Amino acid sequence: MKALIYQGAGEKTLTECPMPLIQEPTDAIVKVSRTTICGSDLHILKGDVPSCAVGRILGHEGVGVVEATGPGVMAFKSGDHVLISCITACGTCLYCRRGMYSHCATGGWILGNEIDGTQAEYVRIPHADMSLYAIPAGANEESMVMLSDILPTGFECGVLNGKVQPGSTVAIVGAGPVGLAALLTAQFYSPARTIMIDLDANRLQVGLSFGATDIVNASQGDSSDAVMRLTGGLGVDTAIDAVGVPSSFLTCQDIIAAGGVIANIGVHGVKVDLHMERLWSRNIAITTRLVDTSTIPMIMKVALSGKINPAQMITHHFKLDQIVEAYDTFARAASTKALKVMIEVG
Ligand SMILES: [Zn+2]
Ligand SMILES: [Zn+2]
Repeated sequence: MKALIYQGAGEKTLTECPMPLIQEPTDAIVKVSRTTICGSDLHILKGDVPSCAVGRILGHEGVGVVEATGPGVMAFKSGDHVLISCITACGTCLYCRRGMYSHCATGGWILGNEIDGTQAEYVRIPHADMSLYAIPAGANEESMVMLSDILPTGFECGVLNGKVQPGSTVAIVGAGPVGLAALLTAQFYSPARTIMIDLDANRLQVGLSFGATDIVNASQGDSSDAVMRLTGGLGVDTAIDAVGVPSSFLTCQDIIAAGGVIANIGVHGVKVDLHMERLWSRNIAITTRLVDTSTIPMIMKVALSGKINPAQMITHHFKLDQIVEAYDTFARAASTKALKVMIEVG
């Protein structure tokens, strides 16, 4: 089968690989029909993720059809149409029992990282009962791919942890796919204002079309000042860092209102400043989280009802044979205007 292989920092190739095999009774083999590329894949390619070994098949998002199951798989059988979670969960360990699948003792974010991933014709899914989700008949398959990672990530790490409330004011720093996923799902709670902050005018326009009430272009002056002006000097109840660099986290600290929550989603690679001299008396909270994907069933129901359209994240379509080009398009998002790139596998 063909698969996209990580060949060390900066290097990747689409290569012929052996088919994955059932290794544990709880494994399933899924024939991938669609997958996509995540910002985390770019982090791996930069060499930022030491747990990902050279030779690994990348990718942790996708949908497909169950090809085979081990004897311990109870919930799925060959031929079932399934969504693959980016998080593998055993369902029985200490963390899984607390719903913290991201920290599963024998799972978590291992797909396309510690084990071979979904940018391939076939993928082995450990703990299949807990790590796959049945796709109902008639669902839009491309929308479902957005539920593997980015929608639950924006929702769980940004909106739930950020305690978005009816009538509240939310700022999202970063209008990339995950920031936009937070914007889409924040609207479940009817915040009064959603302010998107980014350097990229195109992404801010997309934010408006996704329901943002205000946009702030950080390339045109101090974005914190702009948010404080927009909020009459109060700041925002929820500040979501969907970038993960020191300046984005600083913006969140500058704009958080008394009693607010700073909810981090970004993958931070270096240390940040924490201005406790300003924040100590402000009744704020700061949260961090790796997505658990425990909200996939809920988001799936909302998507199937038509209340949100996750496929609106998709800007480009490629075939698996073109995946290297798809990476290039995704990596040059400022010029290509890429958000999510859809890769049709078979
Ligand atoms: Zn991801
Ligand atoms: Zn577990």
